Amino acid sequence: MPLPAQPRRWQQIWREAVTDPVELLRLLDLSAHAADLLPPADTGFALRVPRGFVARMRRGDPADPLLLQVLPQAAELGEVPGFTRDAVGDLGARAANGLLHKYDGRALLIATGSCAVHCRYCFRRHFPYAEETAAANRWQLALGHLRADASIGEVILSGGDPLSLSTPKLAELTQALTSIPHVRRLRIHTRLPVVLPERVDAEFGGWLAALPLQKVVVLHANHPQEIDPAVADACAALRAAGATVLNQAVLLRAVNDDADVLAALSERLFEAGVLPYYLHQLDRVAGAAHFEVPDDAALALVDALRARLPGYLVPRLVREVAGAPSKLPV
Ligand SMILES: *Cc1c(COP(=O)(O)O)cnc(C)c1O
Ligand code: SF4
Repeated sequence: MPLPAQPRRWQQIWREAVTDPVELLRLLDLSAHAADLLPPADTGFALRVPRGFVARMRRGDPADPLLLQVLPQAAELGEVPGFTRDAVGDLGARAANGLLHKYDGRALLIATGSCAVHCRYCFRRHFPYAEETAAANRWQLALGHLRADASIGEVILSGGDPLSLSTPKLAELTQALTSIPHVRRLRIHTRLPVVLPERVDAEFGGWLAALPLQKVVVLHANHPQEIDPAVADACAALRAAGATVLNQAVLLRAVNDDADVLAALSERLFEAGVLPYYLHQLDRVAGAAHFEVPDDAALALVDALRARLPGYLVPRLVREVAGAPSKLPV
């Protein structure tokens, strides 16, 4: 058979993602567990996971830490006091103009609502944004705000996942940014290089390298098993394009609430040229209560990391509190 002339484009790989829980269980030799694992009713947040991420899951293991992050579960259906649909407290503001300026010196843009993977613990499970309006219509409003406020030195592209947008679209969005003298840094919050590393292709690397701004890419990986050689290559390409590459993780029960796992995550990230940044306490969003790790257990985990890792490999344990001037240390 002739080899394909070109690697497949990331958009194609995106479209081929697994969206059927029954198929996902079949791919993992877990069909026999379907009755135990799948929720009896619709959770209101569809499964979505790229096949390359599925390939990193252990077959035959219903407790696989990557599977638990994406598989709809019965536990999502129960109501738990304190877990609400608006956990971060500012989703109205997010939807209104697409720009969040809560902290000094940096402003965050909701570039799109789309994600390549649907993480069960995510606050956005209750807020399906319309992609086109986010990227196209709000951008002029956001730019006006950025231009008028000289205290903003850093713009953060977030979402959803901003790398869901095509590279030409990103180029269009960032073109105007480079004409604002006080904006010196562009930060990108993205899980795509982890769940679909093909996204970091030559076109993307070229765009990033050519941007006349300082560049920071903050990835989102929660478990060392997520970082395979293709992900490490994507991280290398980001660094080659001049970006500082960091990682934020969410502390998740039964996924990474274990000092060995978190230490291995830091080590694996560093091997890929990435430094740990934040370890987030879960946003208390309805349907995610079964992932919560109590604060005392979280603090004990970080103490254990501090005792065995160099300081630069210990992530900062933080929580988002509505109205606070920054992420708050736990
Ligand atoms: C989390 C967040 C940031 C980034 O905070 P850092 O501490 O700089 O990483 C910026 N703006 C908003 C609105 C945020 O939610
Ligand atoms: S990639 Fe990020 S924004 Fe998207 S579902 Fe996962 S945690 Fe939420």
